[in-house]
Amino acid sequence: MTKIGLEIHCQLTKLESKLFCSCKADYRGFEPNTNICPVCVGLPGSLPRLNKKAIEKATVIAMALNCQTPPKIAFFRKNYFYPDLPKNFQITQLNIYGPTSIGQEGKISVEGKEIRIRRIQLEEDPGRLIYEGSSERTQITLVDYNRAGTPLVEIVTEPDFENPKQVRLFLNILSDLLENLGVSDPSLEGAMRADANVSIEGGSKVEIKNINSFYDLEKALQFELTRQQSLAERKIEIIQETRHWDDRRKITISARSKEGEEDYRYFLEGDIPWVMIAPQVVSRLKKDMPESISSKRERYIKNFDIPTQVADVLSSDKFYSDLFEQAHSEKNAKEVANLITTDLMGFVDTKEKRKESKLNAKHLSDLANSIIENKITRNSSKTVLQTIVKTGKSVPQIISELDLGHVSDEKEITMVIDEVIKEESKAVDEAKQKPETINYLVGKVMKKTKGKADATLTLELLKKRLNC
Ligand code: ZN
Ligand code: MN
Repeated sequence: MTKIGLEIHCQLTKLESKLFCSCKADYRGFEPNTNICPVCVGLPGSLPRLNKKAIEKATVIAMALNCQTPPKIAFFRKNYFYPDLPKNFQITQLNIYGPTSIGQEGKISVEGKEIRIRRIQLEEDPGRLIYEGSSERTQITLVDYNRAGTPLVEIVTEPDFENPKQVRLFLNILSDLLENLGVSDPSLEGAMRADANVSIEGGSKVEIKNINSFYDLEKALQFELTRQQSLAERKIEIIQETRHWDDRRKITISARSKEGEEDYRYFLEGDIPWVMIAPQVVSRLKKDMPESISSKRERYIKNFDIPTQVADVLSSDKFYSDLFEQAHSEKNAKEVANLITTDLMGFVDTKEKRKESKLNAKHLSDLANSIIENKITRNSSKTVLQTIVKTGKSVPQIISELDLGHVSDEKEITMVIDEVIKEESKAVDEAKQKPETINYLVGKVMKKTKGKADATLTLELLKKRLNC
């Protein structure tokens, strides 16, 4: 049986400062090595000060993943040398003296399958290595410590995934969940990274590291499964090892160095005392937690009779569900949900477009009301929405400027019908014999009114006029 487990690193991008100093947690956009201080570059004599908010956010993540949160947590030094790690150790967590990392034994359901979370730990991100130069001979490695010390949460799952597709679904759910909690923006480059371990029936566990994106993760898993299966078919032993994903060649390569836990020479971080998390703090955090995606989804279905699929899409994306929450009323909820999921998602389908969009909740609410009150047709609402996104003008202004007002006046529609009857004598004869062809004439009326005529009323009036 195929077994896949994950180690996901997720930056707490919504925090103000780093995990152990007051440098900015949001290191993006700085000139290299300008968002640093003696603590984050590990100068002798500097001492870490733990960021309380990071403990809180990580606890919230642990609770959202149904983990147990211990009353006491501890930090450890994980010793290894690498140029992106200026102290020569990473401050992280470990469950060696009992459960002392921020969360344990959680679970999350992926399409009915339960994925167990082994542990969640809070740790610091290392710096970043930048490789420059084209050939091996001219290549240089630069180090940027702006990222060093950024608060990271590492989520370790049990090897419960049976295939790469489950992994992808899980990561989508997890990334929506983290965004919904307001702790991270997973769409930022490098904000969410995953390593994987893979084994097949009868083989040892192989770890894959160095995977840059979720897309590559799926590719790496597929490659690794095929490699292991082909070894097994040829009766070659699958050895326990760490393999690196080669981004360029899209294959995994054996990494010669293989370290076990004992190689890291873990020991308690003496500069940070044990941290007690009082029950009152845990219950306050629980109380203040944003509503979960599944609870939103159920509420949308139950209170507003929104179709399951629409509720799924709407609840899982914080940007859209926030908009929905602000825009809807008891009366227009279904219409607002409709506008968001059928049209708006197409107009602002990238982060850049969301940012540039001039639309606010009031626009959405006005537009939904205009549809309900028959001021415009659903057909023209699409044009209005697109114009709002581009210009930010008000709904009534756009309706009048683009002349999109709904025509439900009998006299007005009858006049257009008369015109169409004059022009389409052949189709009129046909419709009299074969009533089902009348839709052609309805279409002509709609075209002449630029989609503004009330379709039901038009059909009714046409039938009357043609006596059919
Ligand atoms: Zn610093
Ligand atoms: Mn880690």
